[in-house]
Amino acid sequence: MAFRGLPVPGNDETLSSWLFRCSVNPHVITTHRLQSTDRPVRWWDGLELKSADPDIDFSSVICRFGLDCAHINLETLEQFFAFRSGTLVEWKYRRFFCPDCLAEDVVKGQLPKWQKSWCTEQSSCCLIHGRILEALIDASHYSKAWDAFVQCCNTNPSRINMPLSVLSRFRSTTRAKIIQFINRLSVEERNIFVNIFNKLYSIFLQAPYKGGRGGAARIHFQSERGARFADPLSLEHSFIIGPSTADPSSRFGSMILAASLVGIVSESRYSMFVRVWELANPSSLLPRDLHLVAAFPHVDRIGYQVLKKYLGYVPKTFFPVLERHLLLQEKRYAREGVFDGYTFGILNID
Ligand SMILES: [Zn+2]
Repeated sequence: MAFRGLPVPGNDETLSSWLFRCSVNPHVITTHRLQSTDRPVRWWDGLELKSADPDIDFSSVICRFGLDCAHINLETLEQFFAFRSGTLVEWKYRRFFCPDCLAEDVVKGQLPKWQKSWCTEQSSCCLIHGRILEALIDASHYSKAWDAFVQCCNTNPSRINMPLSVLSRFRSTTRAKIIQFINRLSVEERNIFVNIFNKLYSIFLQAPYKGGRGGAARIHFQSERGARFADPLSLEHSFIIGPSTADPSSRFGSMILAASLVGIVSESRYSMFVRVWELANPSSLLPRDLHLVAAFPHVDRIGYQVLKKYLGYVPKTFFPVLERHLLLQEKRYAREGVFDGYTFGILNID
């Protein structure tokens, strides 16, 4: 019993979620109660509001529980709560959740739990239920799992336990295929694929910059309206923060685009995605042509160089679809008068 006298952590539960459950549990008396309005320490850093990170601050948990829970040590906490896959987003962006998972916790007679798999740049759909993650309006409190459950109950109770849609199933199977593909690669190949995939993923999720609408995946797939974040500091910064600030629907769209360009998702599967997407979003006008949907952002001459440098080296022969795509983008940039004669994917571009 690693946590005797305390609630048992969920399989994929975050540390802050477990802390909140511990603190409101009537049988736990070794820690002061967290109110549902409590949130981590916050401070202004320039124009940005930063938060302490209670999901990875293991040592402060030891202090919080004190000597009465001396059996809890750093190793145990890390073993249960450390993030092991994906790129973790900042606390304020950990705001997407699966209503079905929360409802299942409650059905089991437990407080809802916030999950680690919802907290990364790659999080778009629930790994168990396949449904797209939803956004919590105010995710700044320790009680965010409970807040999210309440939000679901108050907004649309019928959505909980709704049957899997075709799009949800497609998301689950596609994600599984991508993981299978990556796992079959050698370490060297995997590094090459993952590097290019991540670069494309963040370009398609570019945060809106200088009045633009952001990357291609946001333009075509964004479902969340009204969420606003601090403006990017530069074009490169708009790529870097893109995945953190994008909604799950855009993230999944970007995953499909990037995976199609690097050859992980086949042409026929991409076509299937377009049909399934249109079925679920009858009013959307999604071009059939992958190369049109995955257009790189509009940039000026300097922006073209920044974009080229950000994408970095693309090894020849690995990515035939991507090579064609880069050629098409170069032609477009040439028409727009920003192409500097140096092609994408070449090392030592300076
Ligand atoms: Zn779920």
